[in-house]
Amino acid sequence: MSLDEESKAQLIPYLDYIEQNIVLKVYSDAKTQNVLDFVEEIAALSPKISVEKAILERIGSFSIDKTNESSGIVFAGLPLGHEFTSFVMALLQVSGRPPKIAESLIAQIKKIDKKLNFTTYVSLTCHNCPDVVQALNIMAVLNHDISHTMVEGGSFVEEVESKQIMAVPTVFCNGEEFSGGRITLEQILAKLGSGIDNSELNNKEPYDMLVVGGGPAGSAAAIYASRKGIRTGLLAENLGGQVLETLGIENIIGTKYTEGAKFMSEVLAHIQEYPIDIITTQIASKLEKKEFLELSLQSGVVLKAKSIVLATGAKWKSLGIKGEAEFKNKGIAYCPHCDGPLFAGKDIAVIGGGNSGVEAAIDLAGMAKHIYLLEFASTLKADKILQERLQALSNVSVITNAQTAEIAGSAKVENLKYLDRISNQEKTLSVQGVFILIGLTPNTAWLGDSITKNKFGEIIVDKHGSTNMEGVFAAGDCTDSVYKQIVISMGSGATSSLGAFDYLIRNYDR
Ligand SMILES: Cc1cc2nc3c(=O)[nH]c(=O)nc-3n(C[C@H](O)[C@H](O)[C@H](O)COP(=O)(O)OP(=O)(O)OC[C@H]3O[C@@H](n4cnc5c(N)ncnc54)[C@H](O)[C@@H]3O)c2cc1C
Repeated sequence: MSLDEESKAQLIPYLDYIEQNIVLKVYSDAKTQNVLDFVEEIAALSPKISVEKAILERIGSFSIDKTNESSGIVFAGLPLGHEFTSFVMALLQVSGRPPKIAESLIAQIKKIDKKLNFTTYVSLTCHNCPDVVQALNIMAVLNHDISHTMVEGGSFVEEVESKQIMAVPTVFCNGEEFSGGRITLEQILAKLGSGIDNSELNNKEPYDMLVVGGGPAGSAAAIYASRKGIRTGLLAENLGGQVLETLGIENIIGTKYTEGAKFMSEVLAHIQEYPIDIITTQIASKLEKKEFLELSLQSGVVLKAKSIVLATGAKWKSLGIKGEAEFKNKGIAYCPHCDGPLFAGKDIAVIGGGNSGVEAAIDLAGMAKHIYLLEFASTLKADKILQERLQALSNVSVITNAQTAEIAGSAKVENLKYLDRISNQEKTLSVQGVFILIGLTPNTAWLGDSITKNKFGEIIVDKHGSTNMEGVFAAGDCTDSVYKQIVISMGSGATSSLGAFDYLIRNYDR
């Protein structure tokens, strides 16, 4: 049996929504019998699903098609774990249930007039993978020139190794590497040159309030602004922010447990209840005060606003050492939950002895052969309880006073050099993977000197959330707020939005 009772219970209510008959075409042999078992178990649950044997590209895969029409969607390996939802959604969408995405995106997908064969390599523990798989499946459902195969890395180890894939999700398009890591549907379309037309953006009327950033802080700011009945815009490279990198969240007051992607999809649904003009996949690159505040985007577009809330959050710090850029996704990784399974049985290094680094080492210890945890300082900074759990693990060595100097290899990571700060000697560790978890840095470099920041690059705000530039407010992890948490970001998003609204009342006819 491939399908556990919980997954079965999760699936059964959805099967009622299947619109037209579906055929699961399966290609399996004795070694991949579990794939045949899986599709047969699914088919046994609904009279609208049948199974046929077929020859597909990979043994151990199956396609989801309408009876007389191929959808282009294939799952290679079992879509269990985080991918089970992708499978359920694909079943419904292939059967005729329309995907829940904006009409403008549907139009952009249908407009694509070239053959695009996508393949996404995933791990079943990767919480970033389903969004990518689901986005590409939607594209396949809506456009017959597009096909998409999800490949579960653990079932296709040789293929993964031959393609040197060391991070998931990794997407290939027509045989060429297309993207690594989380990518949204909007970003995929922008990358294909099928995104929104810039002239549309250039013609936008000035906003009363423009929020930059779509994490917890920006989302709260935009909702507070829109509830005042003012013209509100929300610009974000990526809706969701850091929360999307979080698996379990237990400190949203009133919600005992949730997961990052689920929580932010609820926040997004809340934003969509209001007439907020949402612009994604665009990156702010300059802010100036003229007649209005003018926000230039990397695409060349300029947006105008009477007030702005900056909520651009933070991103993982990089080490700035040789080999770091070269081996990104070729052995260098940042997400233990996502990429951990690709390092099963391998020797790896984790850089950073804070909570993130120690948690990663504990997580990875169950899969990797040996873990070297490197910390620059003389002691680890992680909470005591985490350090105690770490010490109990037999396959983890902690190396303190270690200054990471270089990550080296040929096609992928082979070793890591560090300076022992006590003996001043350079040492080399033979490792196939390096997880870098040395903290976060605010996304504020693009503001240059126009906005006053502290020595860490954090925007200095007062208790109303205002910055040094008239009409510009800031909130969340990009500010000098002492603590960086979801509820704190949301609170400061609300504060800055109310501060900006007071500013509008004092300075404009509102
Ligand atoms: C691994 C991990 C686990 C965590 N776990 C928890 C937890 O359990 N509980 C908790 O309370 N907190 C947790 N946090 C912290 C929490 O996620 C952050 O405090 C919170 O997300 C900050 O929200 P924010 O809106 O300020 O910024 P972010 O979430 O970083 O959002 C920033 C937004 O700005 C956009 N952006 C950035 N630059 C630009 C630009 N130039 N142009 C356009 N858009 C831009 C981004 O695309 C994004 O939409 C965790 C953080 C991490 C990394």
